[in-house]
Amino acid sequence: MDTYNVLLIGSGGREHSIAWKLAQSERLGKLYTAPGNPGTAQYGTNVSIDPLKFEEVESFVTDNKIELVVVGPEAPLVAGIADYLSDKNIPVFGPKASAALLEGSKEFAKDFMMKYEIPTADYAVFGSEEFDDALKFIQLKDSYPIVLKADGLAGGKGVFICDNEEEAQKRLNKLKHDKSLSEAADRLVVEEFMEGEEASVFVISDGHTSHVIHNAQDHKRIGEGDTGLNTGGMGAYCPAPVLTDEILEEVREKIINPTIAGMQLEESAYSGILYLGLMITDDGPKVVEYNCRFGDPECQVILPPLENDLLDLFLATTQQRLDEKSIHINNDHYCCVVLSSEGYPVEYEKGKEITGIDEVDEGIFVFHAGTTQKDGKLLSNGGRVLNVVGSGNTLQQAIDKTYKNIDHVQFENRYYRKDIGHKGLRRP
Ligand code: AMP
Repeated sequence: MDTYNVLLIGSGGREHSIAWKLAQSERLGKLYTAPGNPGTAQYGTNVSIDPLKFEEVESFVTDNKIELVVVGPEAPLVAGIADYLSDKNIPVFGPKASAALLEGSKEFAKDFMMKYEIPTADYAVFGSEEFDDALKFIQLKDSYPIVLKADGLAGGKGVFICDNEEEAQKRLNKLKHDKSLSEAADRLVVEEFMEGEEASVFVISDGHTSHVIHNAQDHKRIGEGDTGLNTGGMGAYCPAPVLTDEILEEVREKIINPTIAGMQLEESAYSGILYLGLMITDDGPKVVEYNCRFGDPECQVILPPLENDLLDLFLATTQQRLDEKSIHINNDHYCCVVLSSEGYPVEYEKGKEITGIDEVDEGIFVFHAGTTQKDGKLLSNGGRVLNVVGSGNTLQQAIDKTYKNIDHVQFENRYYRKDIGHKGLRRP
């Protein structure tokens, strides 16, 4: 059997779970992760390359006989890493820049959905010189909340839900002068607020054929009851109880199929993971956002139930053979709780010793995110530090097992939400 040397790009819990899953493949040769974390190092070698320096990536690929590059995060994809490496005949799992625009530009995504009649919220777009028009537009609105969104990548910090006109005007003025959003807020999308429950569906596509891998729900806010500041994600669970078979069928017919077909017609065939952020409204599922990669922490709950060989799926994608594959997942429920540093997402301390990872029960995963190894000790090294994942026959069991095992994993100033998955329990 041919084996493949793989370079995985990224350093979060998402990449640890991808590395863990790739390592189960008999077809995996050597695995390198750039830059990786102590979790990914368990399955191969971490290399300190900046994924945005494409020439460095290319040299490493050539020198180490890499046969597949797998890109975890969005930034290198939106910046064109797949285009750069594909031009050099290096197979890449992840969309080219023109397809990654579905995440990289909200204006592009909204115009695309409008053109192909994909259900989403009504919207208007304003350029930086049109902020006065945006202000007038807001003044004419008679129903609130409304949603203001910076067009470009903003690391989850570019979306504002405004409850009244005053708040919307204030926010608009702030956006005009917010240097931290720089180019991302050059153009602005003003969007209708959608009422409903959010859920995510993960699709793998080779540009022509697409399969749903799984679905999940996450908790973005720092505080219990989904309150407080937005974060990269404090936990997730799968499957999402709100996504009935009937709704999933609607998602396939009204969202996934027209998206894949539409991107082909735009000559930007979508190859890689397409993550649909959905709002399940009374009028059916609507798109909140597209992402061009796995979610973090959703990836940590959807890869454990996947029974396919992940490397095999990635290779079939880059070779446009996904029509030969079907997806197999088990029927279990999974819950992921993020252990973070107290103070995240604002200010927090690093360098706290982590103990007890080896003491968790069998079947529990502890995926690393912001950790580092120093003098034989494992230390915290970021806002989101570790992801504890448990499973069960029911969501309640998955939640209980996860929380029971969190007690083993200790570090000073550890913070985590105690209510991950509870919104899923509210459904019969
Ligand atoms: P986005 O980056 O576009 O996914 O937005 C971040 C979050 O803001 C989403 O996960 C939703 O919780 C919320 N959001 C964005 N757009 C809308 C909308 N039109 N209606 C309701 N909530 C929204």
